[in-house]
Amino acid sequence: MGRWLKATRDADDRPGGSPRASRGGLAQLLRRVTACRTCPTIPTIYGYRKFPPSAAGRRQTRFALVGEAPGIASIENRRQWTGTGGLILRREIRRLGLDLEDLFYLTNAVKCWPAARGRSAANRSPLASEARRCRPFLLAEMEILRPEVIVAVGGVAARALLDRPIRLPDDHGRRFVVAGREVVVLLHPANASRHRRIWPGYRASLLALFAELAGRAGYPIVPVTAAVVERGGRYLVTLRPAGQEHSGTWEFPGGKRAPGESLEGCLRRELAEELGVDARVGELLAVVPWPNAERRLVVHFFRSDLGAALPVPREGQHLAWLTPEEILALALGPADAEMAARLHPRVRARW
Ligand code: SF4
Repeated sequence: MGRWLKATRDADDRPGGSPRASRGGLAQLLRRVTACRTCPTIPTIYGYRKFPPSAAGRRQTRFALVGEAPGIASIENRRQWTGTGGLILRREIRRLGLDLEDLFYLTNAVKCWPAARGRSAANRSPLASEARRCRPFLLAEMEILRPEVIVAVGGVAARALLDRPIRLPDDHGRRFVVAGREVVVLLHPANASRHRRIWPGYRASLLALFAELAGRAGYPIVPVTAAVVERGGRYLVTLRPAGQEHSGTWEFPGGKRAPGESLEGCLRRELAEELGVDARVGELLAVVPWPNAERRLVVHFFRSDLGAALPVPREGQHLAWLTPEEILALALGPADAEMAARLHPRVRARW
């Protein structure tokens, strides 16, 4: 167990807790937020509606999730991220057996609900002036909590934290270091869900980030990589040889990440060891968790290119180039079956 995790157990029994947050300082700050009436634009219809301090998720944590502003659905539920976009984040993290409150302190760049003028119960995007006025609260929260990683969801949140221009979706997934803290910028899920072209990759990147942070927080997550290699509509699959775990099942080739290895580096190593090829690892296509009793394997499927190289099995495994339909007829692990289904033209059109 790492130094951080050992320390956190003293402060909070769940994985991922931080001993550094000052409960008193944060409570005082949240009382000031509740009382604030600074923005003249906010009270147009419904007044200064905000989340109660109890909706902030975990106080003792290493990670913060910063949204743009509360939406009316979440305010009425008294629970953050329960509007249309927020439920997308919750759906992805639940695939790891967790919820947002298990990993994150939850807050927003603008603390009051920005109500659309003249229309009842409609949200609008927060104004730059509102974000500017509210920014000292956000920076004070981060200073009290001192999270190791801040996930900024949406351009308003990212600009408030980074104080620099951010272009989305281009900057989705970019990481910055500010005052020793890592800030990860994400496109807002409500925007991503409207763009069919980026949607599958967006979902994969969310789950990859949540799995990475859950692993860093000490949850039993085992990262695994697998290669999706296509030639003329056929995909490379291998049969696990006798004597190996899950022998007799077919899979997209790959393996478990070693400590300190990047996901891409892991896949290149596995393909070199198993098939004697020097692969180019491309885009992340899908992330599929595979729970069992003690741990959760999280398989990261990358599009990969072998160039003109001919893969040669080096561990006694069988190898085949098959269509998605043929792959789905084989004995597969659950994650490989889900990936094969997503490659099937009929499923791919819906996904
Ligand atoms: S948005 Fe922030 S600065 Fe503006 S009134 Fe609400 S709490 Fe105050």
